[in-house]
This record gives sequence, structure tokens and C-alpha cells, in this order.
Amino acid sequence: MQRPYNFAPGPAALPQPVLEQAAAEMLDWQGAGMSVMEVSHRSAAFEEMHNRSLDNLRKLLKLPDDFTILYLQGGASGHNAAIPMNICAPDDVANMVITGAWSVKSAKDAQPYCQVHEAANAKTADGGFLHVPEFASWDLKPAAMTLICSNETVHGVQFPEFPDVASHDAGALVVDCSSDILSRPFDWSKIGVAFGGAQKNIGPAGLALVIIRKDLLGKAQAITPRVWNYQTAHDANSLHHTPSTYGIYLAGLVFDWLLEQGGVDAIEQINNQKAALLYDYIDQSSMYENRVQVPYRSKMNIPFFLADEALNAEFLAQSVDAGLLNLRGHRSVGGMRASIYNSMPLAGVQALVAFMQEFERTH
Ligand code: PMP
Repeated sequence: MQRPYNFAPGPAALPQPVLEQAAAEMLDWQGAGMSVMEVSHRSAAFEEMHNRSLDNLRKLLKLPDDFTILYLQGGASGHNAAIPMNICAPDDVANMVITGAWSVKSAKDAQPYCQVHEAANAKTADGGFLHVPEFASWDLKPAAMTLICSNETVHGVQFPEFPDVASHDAGALVVDCSSDILSRPFDWSKIGVAFGGAQKNIGPAGLALVIIRKDLLGKAQAITPRVWNYQTAHDANSLHHTPSTYGIYLAGLVFDWLLEQGGVDAIEQINNQKAALLYDYIDQSSMYENRVQVPYRSKMNIPFFLADEALNAEFLAQSVDAGLLNLRGHRSVGGMRASIYNSMPLAGVQALVAFMQEFERTH
């Protein structure tokens, strides 16, 4: 069955072999006579699967032993609040580096739990975001944490590398990596906490991940609910309450699939190829435009505009007919956006470019 290519920003496309395996196991998971959703999270079979997925994720991320992986809920948004609650005292400063819509939200959500300080803000005069400000220009205060969003899903702005905030007494680097985790290697020596929702490169919505250096545990504010306390989650191997069991199962299948592809280094090569194909075509075209400064262009979310915006509706209608779904840009940005996470094959981007070429030729 040839399915359409889904360019949605999240919930996003999942690898087809993963969906096929999940479908095959729906009624009878591992001979249990029931689906994995109906199995106790306290059963030996579940725990074995849970631990295997954690081990494989650690392997894929090349994660050092001094970090723990927590499977939680509440989306990335919940952890915008829970992270300062866990690692800051109420009077500690949290530096925020604003490079798009998601870091704006992180700063807002952190407000009740720490002293939020805007260390940089890349917003343009017309409200857009097109770059990451130079590290040397950031106004970093002595702080318990400094937050960045490694890939701004809405604006298509990505950090090419992670800043060394520890050398500036700016606390733990906290990275919202919802939309680029597992798409490229991360330098863990720079990171204190990496977090995100699963619904782009990992699995279904409902599972959230917090990857935290263990020395940052055990500092939660007294008001922290127990389900949001990272020490509690770490001590219980993320099984202190009922986790997102189906989310963990599907994430595990995605990790198996990614290991079969050759892991993060191999998928990064394909991601680079896919992004280059689309950007190179857009840049030489007189019909399409991407406005993000070249060094900060996202390899996961590629916004673009038609020179004649009056053609937007026709472009979208024809793209659906061509089997290319969900290309409409975010409502705050307009235009188009192609989200090309790990599970988007090179053939999907080739099909998109061929469609854009034909649309340009006929218009
Ligand atoms: N951060 C980023 C970078 C995102 O792309 C998103 C979701 N699109 C979020 C945070 C919010 O995630 P959630 O809906 O899981 O709270």
C-alpha cells in the first residue's frame, strides 16, 4: 500500500514498518492474548520491554552514565514548568534564550517557579524569528539554568551547536529538543537537561522525555507534585505511577527501527541530504522563498513562502491530490512548512520537490 507522505509538524509521521508491527501485534502482544495496552505496567513482560527501550534510547543517544532518562507525561509544555520546579529555587535566575514560539512559551511557563531573565531575544520587528543570536551577545546572569530550544518547530530555526553556558556561571543548559532529538548527535558535555514530547521523532503524543544529569536531581521545590518530581521518577525507573504504556511500546519500536537504519549518525546523513535537496531547490527558485538565515536553518521543519500568496490555496489543494499532506504553515507564520523528521524518507522530499517544480512550471 502506497500511503501519502505526511509533512505534519507533530503528531507526525511514524516509520511504516513500525506501524505494521504495531498493527500485527494489536490483538496479541508477545503471546499475551491481549494488546500491550491491556497489560499491567507492573508485569515482567512490560518491564522487560520498558527497560529494553530505555537501553536502546541510551545507545542511540550515546548518553553518558551520569544522565538518567525519565519517561513522563504532560508533553513538553508540562516540563517547561516542571524543570524549573525541579532544579531551581524560587529565587534562582533562569536565563531564557528566545529564538521562536516555543522558547517564548518555555519562558512564560517557567515564570511562577523561578526568576525568569531574558538573556537574548531574536524576534524581528514584524514578529518573526530568523536566526539564533551570537552566543557572545547573550546577556547571561548567574543562574541555576539557561534554556534554549534546539529546534524551533514553528519558525524553522535550529541551533547548529550547543552553547557552553557552564563556563559563564549560567547553570545547567536546558534544551527543549522536542523536534530534533535523535535527528543528529548531541554534545552531552554541554547539556544539563534535554526534554521534549515524543510526537515528532519518537512516537505517539502522550509520552514525554526528560533526560537529566543526575547531579541535578533531588532539588525539587516543596510544592512539586510527586508525579512531577524527577527524583521520584528516577528512583522508580519511571514506573512510580502508570506511564504512557502504549507510547513507550511504540517508542521502543521506533528505537529498534532507528538502530536498523544505522543509528543517529546514519539518519543524520539522510536528514542532511533531505534538507539540502529542499533548500537548494527553494533557493534557486523564483517562486519559493525561505527567509531563515542560512546557518540557522532547521533540517527538520522548513517553512517557505510562495512569491504570490494568492496561489496558497491552489498549492495546498494540488499537493493533497499529489499525495503530499499537511504542508500548510503554522497560523502565526503563514505560507507553507514541510516537516521532514527521521521517518520521512528521501523519496518523500524528492516527491515534494518534483511537485513544487511542476507547480512552478505551470504557474
Ligand atoms: N517544544 C517544541 C519545540 C515543540 O515543537 C512543541 C510541540 N509542537 C512543544 C514544545 C510543545 O509540546 P507539547 O504539545 O508536547 O506540550
